[in-house]
Amino acid sequence: MAPKREKIKNESDPSLGFGLKNEPSEPINATDMEKTAKCIYWFRKALRLHDNPSLMHAIQKSQYIYPIFILDPWFVQKAKVGPNRWRFLLQSLNDLNEQLIRKNSRLILIRGNPSAVFAEKIKEWDINLICFETDTEPYAKLRDQEITKIATELNVKVETKYGHTLYNPDYVYKKNNEKIPLQYQSFVGALAKIGDPPKPIDEPSNVFNKLEIDYDLYKIPDLVSIGIDPSACGPLLFPGGETEALRRLEDKFKNESWICSFEKPNTSPNSLAPSTTVLSPYLKFGCLSARKFYWRLKQVYAKRKHSMPPVSLEGQLLFREFFYYVGAFTPNFNKIEGNPVCRQIKWDDKPEYVKAWKEARTGFPFIDAIMTQLRTEGWIHHLARHAVACFLTRGDLYCSWEKGQEVFEEYLLDQDWSLNAANWMWLSASAFFHQYFRVYSPIGFGKKTDENGDYIRKYIPVLKTFPAKYIFEPWTAPLEVQKRHNCVIGKDYPRPIVDHNVISKINISRMKKAYEESKLVSTDDGDDKKSRPTSSKSTKNPPKSEKTSPDTRPPSKKSKN
Ligand SMILES: Cc1cc2nc3c(=O)[nH]c(=O)nc-3n(C[C@H](O)[C@H](O)[C@H](O)COP(=O)(O)OP(=O)(O)OC[C@H]3O[C@@H](n4cnc5c(N)ncnc54)[C@H](O)[C@@H]3O)c2cc1C
Repeated sequence: MAPKREKIKNESDPSLGFGLKNEPSEPINATDMEKTAKCIYWFRKALRLHDNPSLMHAIQKSQYIYPIFILDPWFVQKAKVGPNRWRFLLQSLNDLNEQLIRKNSRLILIRGNPSAVFAEKIKEWDINLICFETDTEPYAKLRDQEITKIATELNVKVETKYGHTLYNPDYVYKKNNEKIPLQYQSFVGALAKIGDPPKPIDEPSNVFNKLEIDYDLYKIPDLVSIGIDPSACGPLLFPGGETEALRRLEDKFKNESWICSFEKPNTSPNSLAPSTTVLSPYLKFGCLSARKFYWRLKQVYAKRKHSMPPVSLEGQLLFREFFYYVGAFTPNFNKIEGNPVCRQIKWDDKPEYVKAWKEARTGFPFIDAIMTQLRTEGWIHHLARHAVACFLTRGDLYCSWEKGQEVFEEYLLDQDWSLNAANWMWLSASAFFHQYFRVYSPIGFGKKTDENGDYIRKYIPVLKTFPAKYIFEPWTAPLEVQKRHNCVIGKDYPRPIVDHNVISKINISRMKKAYEESKLVSTDDGDDKKSRPTSSKSTKNPPKSEKTSPDTRPPSKKSKN
């Protein structure tokens, strides 16, 4: 149960790191001496007008605002972004543009390296202020340092606000005596001492002053013009953008009893319609503010009895917060090497295993169905992520979580640097979660919530008519049954890549050995520095496991079908 929070004044308390004055209610006034700036407002995440502290700051400070988004070639060429996420991004930008048009403005989309773009546009537009939302990811931090340097040299101020999570991580860090808890419960305890997160601010009520600019030069591209084949996209289940984010949020909140009784363990990894909110892609791109979601929950919780963290929806948002926080202060958080919170496990190097897993060819229909849903639709349920992540790493294939992280990076709509890395470490029992002996069965786990295998039938059509009795392990069906249903194993659908019962036991002993070889100095995560894994050869017992796991439906102690 989460500790009770102290009430504090919030949204206008600058110490929380947001530092906003009240929203201006007057139209932007050219004679206002406070507002002489020509400001570039740089959208990166936070693709929204509602509850956008850095945008509001820019509005408060400036007479003219140039709202830009930079299509950075680094992302186009180097980042692993699949077609579905590109589509989501472009839809979000188009929606943002529509929102800005309502405010007498428009989105200015510029293709290019951010440093070059700023060097040019500061001069061209005679800019004296740049505002954007602070980012905690390593690439973004370096990029932002570079922009700040360029701006400072040109005598231009850079002013930023934090806005992507419930709390400003720097503020929590200070308040928590610079400690980084590695357990959710400790982190939630630290937040409870701080008090509630800031309340969301409304979208700006005023309209922007008109710019003299040729918008035709700055149009939002379509998929084809950035080299993406639209036919590579899957069905459009979750359109991008703030409008859709707010619609989806309100749609979920229509059913208040569902919201209040939400318990992650009681949701299903393989229902045909999502059993959780699917607000994650909107939170990832900042189409939806996490604080808006949080305070909407509080509003409904105030009226009736409700579930509690870690299993409640509030608990889910706190997991996001937790992983963002640890990610913001941990070097090499998305890597094994040089990552002080990650156990140094020597995983096998088997590219053919990773490829089969990625391409949904493991021969385990539950795993392959999930990987098909991931590739085609871009979103899979949290426990489905558990099943495939455990399978790739400590459960069956013993491949590095970094490889799985890469595939998720490419396919997920909600791919989020900190969250992806943290959850992969969790599932591979490399950090946060230590019960490596609890392995998901690629056969039995899915059966619990989908006895008839309807989810498998949907995503693996070759098994569509297979009898329910065999659908989770089709290789056990007699040949005549396989033939009758036009799916001969080894010909029409692969044989299982490993023998789960055998390999999972071997892997548990490999994990045990790996744990013995990398002891934790202390399991008291009150002091982060003491609780980080080392590569010492000591054979201490594995650390006490995390009590509150997002793993909400723990698999049986020994791997079983
Ligand atoms: C291996 C693995 C990789 C993952 N990678 C990502 C990722 O890149 N991006 C991402 O947003 N989530 C990731 N998750 C966490 C989680 O699976 C998704 O956030 C969740 O399934 C999104 O669906 P939802 O919006 O319906 O969640 P809901 O259950 O409705 O929860 C509401 C919100 O809480 C947050 N949340 C819930 N669970 C978690 C969690 N375990 N960690 C962090 N935030 C959480 C999300 O923002 C989510 O939208 C990963 C999980 C695993 C096991």
